[in-house]
Amino acid sequence: MSLMGNFLVLGAAKSGIAAALLLKKQGAWVCVIDQHTISDDVKYVLTKQDIFFEIAEHVENSRIFTGNFAADWALVVSPGISLENEFVRFAKANQRPVVSEIEVASWFLNDKTVCVGITGTNGKSTTASYTAQLLARAGKNAYACGNIGTPFSQIVMNISKNEKAVCVLELSSYQLETTQSLQCVCTAILNLQNDHLERHKTFEEYLRVKWKLALMTRADGLFIVDAQVLQKARALGLAQPQCKVEILNFKNNLWNVQNPCLLGDHNFANVMCASLIARHLGVSDEIIKLQWEKQTSQYVPLPHRLERVGSFCQEFVDIQGRKKRVVIMNDSKATNVESTLVALKSFDAPVRLLLGGKPKGDSYIPIANFTQKNIVKIYPFGAARNVILEELNPVHEFLSKAQTCLLDAAQQALLESCDGDVILLSPACSSFDEFQNFEHRGDVFRNWALSCCEGSSH
Ligand code: ADP
Repeated sequence: MSLMGNFLVLGAAKSGIAAALLLKKQGAWVCVIDQHTISDDVKYVLTKQDIFFEIAEHVENSRIFTGNFAADWALVVSPGISLENEFVRFAKANQRPVVSEIEVASWFLNDKTVCVGITGTNGKSTTASYTAQLLARAGKNAYACGNIGTPFSQIVMNISKNEKAVCVLELSSYQLETTQSLQCVCTAILNLQNDHLERHKTFEEYLRVKWKLALMTRADGLFIVDAQVLQKARALGLAQPQCKVEILNFKNNLWNVQNPCLLGDHNFANVMCASLIARHLGVSDEIIKLQWEKQTSQYVPLPHRLERVGSFCQEFVDIQGRKKRVVIMNDSKATNVESTLVALKSFDAPVRLLLGGKPKGDSYIPIANFTQKNIVKIYPFGAARNVILEELNPVHEFLSKAQTCLLDAAQQALLESCDGDVILLSPACSSFDEFQNFEHRGDVFRNWALSCCEGSSH
């Protein structure tokens, strides 16, 4: 790929802008195109760097579509853009490359820096964040980037020529679809469930896209994979990587960890994966264990994923003036029933579950099984409230019927809670009926919880 080529970057969000800036720095001609308006802040950044920008509907009459555009050009697509998009079809029809921002960044890495690639349906962010922190604890210069938030291109642009860094990349299937040059020293496919089938159509196609990561592992590298995923890939006859392959077996407690810093079997798998990666990169077993054990861990968990609000159990005073200790957990990231079940499996203590938001069409019935285990009460809220009440009617003695919005439900749960209870926001729904996104929902919930603690802790 000529470094002086012409690039159209489709999507003026974080990753598109980062790719545009990186390409421009390398001497390319760049134009950013967005379907919607481009904010003034973004326009300012682009103008300052001599990067062109255009709103999609205005492009049709421009030189790109009228045939005066340079023959040598490539399209950089943001992950949210469908490959059915008209620009993508136009590029393909003209035999022009269609690449991701990850692909762009991979062209400009210095030769001292190595990459780790992590994908899967669930647990990507946790594993990427844990891996980067574990490597940092061992003195390595590690960056968590990609789908986790900071664009890979931004990191690559800021790494100096002689810097020896490890880029720990969280990769979504959307990003993998248009990536091919990336070479990783270690890769992982954590798990695969039916997801994003609106884009990939079939599970096989989804697996094929995720599997691309396995083939981006260097021959001297390590590929870590869930046993079922490996089995399915073999059954489909997908090409196998040349490197060492390790099955992610979380029942095998390799580091003999007694009291893990992250709750639940799912996190055991995530941390196991991160630890295998770290070991491959030369981190000692002693450091791996220190980071994993709760007492000695320095891991700073990601917010909104089984996040304990406050540092320990919060102390409240009940109506009779008695003290009670309640744990408040923010799992706002759990936007489907599957994730909520994972959260419920992580507790032995009695749980008061805040369940609701904008329904996604999942059935809530599997949640009812936990009334036999740890659920003491479910507090349905938001747009999904009526569906939840209807579906869970057979266990009606566990249902609160009164609430409408999240904070009303939370307030009620706190009022009714007993010493030792867990109040868990693991809503199994998206947040858009009441909030901008799951982060906003989690922040509102956390602020509520912290303000209640201030009001009543001793
Ligand atoms: P991702 O980045 O893939 O969306 P996260 O690390 O942000 O994943 O976790 C999101 C949710 O997925 C968690 O709140 C939890 O409910 C569930 N989860 C995390 N890790 C796993 C796993 N290994 N297996 C199954 N579910 C998981």
